[in-house]
Amino acid sequence: MSENSKSQHASTQSHAASAIARDQQDAIAHLRDHYELPEDTIYLDGNSLGALPKAAKKRALEVVETQWGKDLITSWNKHAWIDLPMNVGDRIAPLIGAKQDVKNDPASAQVICCDSISVNLFKLLCAALSLNSDDGKRTKILSQCDNFPTDLYTVEGLQALIGSGKCELVLCEEEEIEQKIEELGDSLITVMLTHVNFRSGYIHNLPKITELAHQHGALVIWDLAHSAGVLPVNVDEHKVDFAVGCGYKYLNGGPGAPAFVYAAKRHHAKLQQPLSGWMGHAKPFDFAVEYQADSGIKQFLSGTPSVISMSVLDAALSVFDDVSIQQVRDKSMALTSFFQQAVEDADDLKGLKFASPALPEQRGSQLAYTHDKAYALCQALISKGIVADFRAPDIIRFGFSPTYLSFQDIFQSIETLKQVMRDKTYELPEFNRKQAVT
Ligand SMILES: *Cc1c(COP(=O)(O)O)cnc(C)c1O
Repeated sequence: MSENSKSQHASTQSHAASAIARDQQDAIAHLRDHYELPEDTIYLDGNSLGALPKAAKKRALEVVETQWGKDLITSWNKHAWIDLPMNVGDRIAPLIGAKQDVKNDPASAQVICCDSISVNLFKLLCAALSLNSDDGKRTKILSQCDNFPTDLYTVEGLQALIGSGKCELVLCEEEEIEQKIEELGDSLITVMLTHVNFRSGYIHNLPKITELAHQHGALVIWDLAHSAGVLPVNVDEHKVDFAVGCGYKYLNGGPGAPAFVYAAKRHHAKLQQPLSGWMGHAKPFDFAVEYQADSGIKQFLSGTPSVISMSVLDAALSVFDDVSIQQVRDKSMALTSFFQQAVEDADDLKGLKFASPALPEQRGSQLAYTHDKAYALCQALISKGIVADFRAPDIIRFGFSPTYLSFQDIFQSIETLKQVMRDKTYELPEFNRKQAVT
């Protein structure tokens, strides 16, 4: 062995030992038992689609076989289908730091489960406009170029509908947000940002940006797609106005699981949202001709909840029953650091360029690397049981779900990654054909 390969070998041995030791000390390692994970797969894509909790599978069968199959329409009352949006909202609330006590005081609810992020953002943008147009003096919505595209498309849609004289999307770079808020000042309706960047994992300074926006009379809408269920947000403490989040990423609600809306209580009485439907009516079962919005968070509902999906999400959230979100965050930071360090130490991985913030405190639960052949590299890894994902144009993204990943999983992933890079497996033609979903 050459000196170099000796030192590489030693480094691998030390990472292997460290992974075992860390798993032994992991305070939330037992949460893995809540999941049904395929053997021979290490799943580093929970930031896109969370894995399957056993409770979710059980509920899916129960909802379909018993509730729908046998109890039919009586299930709306018998199995409380009608309360699902509020009840699921109530389970999500503590994960994002929204205080409420739905059992004793339904009017205290600030979080509700419904629709998709895209649809919910549209409602919130309109709500912000209804509260804060200042008789037409405020017209601008500030976001960043590298926001998740659907977030920007919803503003573009609203702008096309009501005209740029009333709603105009202004974009800037990530690092220019604060300066831009100062600049736009009293022409700003709202600042709309994604807390954790979907590509790089960069975390915005939510408390600071929220406060600055408020100083200029603007509202804030935070997209918590990559935050909810994996890091503390404390929406109430930081006086966030509105937020949305995703049910199928770290909350593990399954493909197409409904999203959620947070709207601070102080805004409920005055806001308006335009997708008025019967489920958002103060008394849906009066079947009145005229719409009268519910006075609380329910006014964000439009149509009938997707009962099967929402029930599955409800059950999936039981994973978080006995764990604090800070424990999840601590493990998340440890996992990303472990992976990052192992990549840095491996000679075989010099071809990967790190594209996330350097410190774990500054990033969410994912790591991005750039590589010319990122797409094919990702496909080659998947063929070997390591599931990561690709984001155009040249990013390979690894997501770390702390509730089901172990440090030994990370070690294994790195070993496979080294092999694929050494053998250049990604050059095979079969890994270079693009599929519909990346
Ligand atoms: C995943 C994701 C979405 C998804 O939006 P849907 O309308 O629920 O499909 C939106 N925004 C961000 C930042 C995301 O990461």
